[in-house]
Amino acid sequence: MRQLPAIIVAVFVGLAALTLLVPWPPAVETARVSGFSDEVIANGMQHSFERRLFWWGTTFIELGLLLALVFTRLGPAATAWCRRLARGWWLPTLLLLAALYYVVLAILDFPLDVGRWAHLRAWGMTERPFGPWFSEYLLALAVRAVLEGVVLVGLYLLLRWLPRWWWLAAAAGSVVLAALFALVLPVVVAPLFNTFTPISETKWAKWERPLHDLVQKANVPLDEILVMNASAQSKHSNAYYTGFAGTRRIVLYDNLLEKHTLPEVESVLAHELGHWLHDHIVIGIALGGLGLLAGLYVLSRILKWAEGRFGLYGPSDPAGLAIVLLAGFLGSWLAMPLSCAVSRHFERQADMMALELAGQPDEFMDAERKLAKDNIGNVAPTPWNVWLFATHPPTVERMQMAVDWKKAISR
Ligand SMILES: [Zn+2]
Repeated sequence: MRQLPAIIVAVFVGLAALTLLVPWPPAVETARVSGFSDEVIANGMQHSFERRLFWWGTTFIELGLLLALVFTRLGPAATAWCRRLARGWWLPTLLLLAALYYVVLAILDFPLDVGRWAHLRAWGMTERPFGPWFSEYLLALAVRAVLEGVVLVGLYLLLRWLPRWWWLAAAAGSVVLAALFALVLPVVVAPLFNTFTPISETKWAKWERPLHDLVQKANVPLDEILVMNASAQSKHSNAYYTGFAGTRRIVLYDNLLEKHTLPEVESVLAHELGHWLHDHIVIGIALGGLGLLAGLYVLSRILKWAEGRFGLYGPSDPAGLAIVLLAGFLGSWLAMPLSCAVSRHFERQADMMALELAGQPDEFMDAERKLAKDNIGNVAPTPWNVWLFATHPPTVERMQMAVDWKKAISR
């Protein structure tokens, strides 16, 4: 038990070293063979290395804080302080403690987040001054606090009301909540940060007809393709499918439309239609619920064990909050390779649909090549970085898929 924090830190240091420092030359060779210049390859590798440094920085800050709260006197002291302030009331104690942890973590993370913004500027991916970036950053922090607050209060009410079966109810509740968030977030939260305009009302209105033909071909009940003013934040090009039931939508970044040809945009749109046709959001929520069921059951055992160890009066004792957060942090790490593998599978399905719907493998490859270059993507990732973190298959693999598809239909 006393060695546990050291073991956890050692595992994370090992993973950081592996993903940051261990090269994989065959990936570079494959990228070269696929037609990427040495400059594009080197830039992508350098850029992603620097981004990972930031990412590992925030990971170690959060891990360090949670370990300190669970395994030193810091956690009990914070709990006692909040309990006094809240005059012993259960829910106010919990909310104060959660707010305290949230604010402390935000303050510790802040220098790295400023670093991320400066990094984006240094690479020419944004020209945003500090002021607008900072006010949006604060807004994002506030939105996250509300959403995480809802999840936390829901979880702790179940811990209090159903001390034996809360994990079962929480897993079921998470599915309902995830569906609700998916339904509401695109229409309530996303517009706080960006504008979404039907393509017919933008300067790309002339593309509406051909793009809509593709939607009809896919037989997807989508009235309007939305254009997001992503250029307000950065120069990244992207597109996404989001929402649930009545709020399902496909969003194209204005940067994407600015830099790509119509056939390339068709290819990207067809990919998003692929996600829609495969029902990836609904399946994702269901799989997430199953994963959470297993994770919450384990957490219920951990809390049971912690009752004696840490002197908790029951699973809903606010003094156990740091244990719940640490278990959640480690659990999401354990689940990451699996959820990334599922995500890559979804992306391959959507790519296949993109090839079948748009029927333009060369434009598909052009779009992939351009997206990698414009977003300074790493076209030669090491296999372990892909296994651990990649939600999408490597660019080279996606391009190969188009080559294979082309060969298969010309037979
Ligand atoms: Zn996708």
